[in-house]
Amino acid sequence: MAVSDIGEADLAMVIDGRKIADELIETVKLEAAKLKSSTGTTPGIAVVIVGEDPASQVYVRSKGNKAEECGFKSVTHTLPENTSQPDLLKLIADLNADNSIHGILVQLPLPDHIAEGEVIQAIAPEKDVDGFHFVNVGRLTTGEVEQAFVPCTPAGSMVLLRKALGKSDFSGMNAVVVGRSNIVGKPIASLLLASNATVTIAHSRTSDLPGLCRTADILVAAVGRPEMIKADWVKPGACIIDVGINRIDAPERGEGKKRLVGDVAYEECAKVAGSITPVPGGVGPMTIAMLMANTLTGACRAAGVEPPQF
Ligand code: NDP
Repeated sequence: MAVSDIGEADLAMVIDGRKIADELIETVKLEAAKLKSSTGTTPGIAVVIVGEDPASQVYVRSKGNKAEECGFKSVTHTLPENTSQPDLLKLIADLNADNSIHGILVQLPLPDHIAEGEVIQAIAPEKDVDGFHFVNVGRLTTGEVEQAFVPCTPAGSMVLLRKALGKSDFSGMNAVVVGRSNIVGKPIASLLLASNATVTIAHSRTSDLPGLCRTADILVAAVGRPEMIKADWVKPGACIIDVGINRIDAPERGEGKKRLVGDVAYEECAKVAGSITPVPGGVGPMTIAMLMANTLTGACRAAGVEPPQF
């Protein structure tokens, strides 16, 4: 069982995203080695970053390191802040044509003078490992999940849910997703629907959000508001997936110090929920693991091999 129990009967089971992500990476490594020995194909990922944003640089470095750990070919294109859109599109076109690259990821946000949407839509759908291209969005929302690239955070959240609930069919379960963004809320809702849950998407204009959340057997928080979801919003025994990552002041750790919290008031909600993801250590580690899984899937498809299921 890949979910750790915190050992107190009245507290929720903690869904250990770090452990589950590590297991997933082990599977990716194994399957990548098998693909290489059977077809000669080494999965390849290209990460493109424009500008000097320090947080983005950290993300890009960790993606490159993880790809190398998985035995992938990994290339990073670091372009200056003033790169023109045509030059960026030319690089994307070259990567689309490069047979050794199976996944292309453009680190967002892009500088203001570049139209993000145009860049994302220029990535070949079969290399769009972020799952943001309209073709992949369309496949996901029409239920053709097997053919789609699913965005990494939603895909990783679903892995955690399946582990926590011990099943992949959520028939008869009510799911409430708080947040309707294109990169998190909407794709998670599509995946839950594809798993037969009855899904409600809530947002900033939803009335009686606490009451709605209390109907949820599966509660997904993707809001970006620190500890917004309280214990009395939670149905006893519910499974909570907290996607939120919020940096808040932590004076108890010293002057100017910060700490990470989710969108869920963890301590109090853990007393009501059946299972819950912590922040950090829940959904976060799954995102990068799913990026590796998507790249492997792209390489398998390119080699005409059935990709593994994650
Ligand atoms: P967005 O800002 O794009 O979307 C936030 C959503 O929350 C919107 O739909 C908004 O509603 C809704 N919302 C805002 N305030 C309220 C409120 N008071 N009540 C109900 N709904 C509200 O954020 P993202 O989807 O990009 O990210 C959400 C969170 O997930 C963030 O904390 C982000 O850092 C985190 N995240 C974590 C990742 C990971 O790897 N774990 C990856 C990606 C994101 P409306 O549409 O009406 O404005």
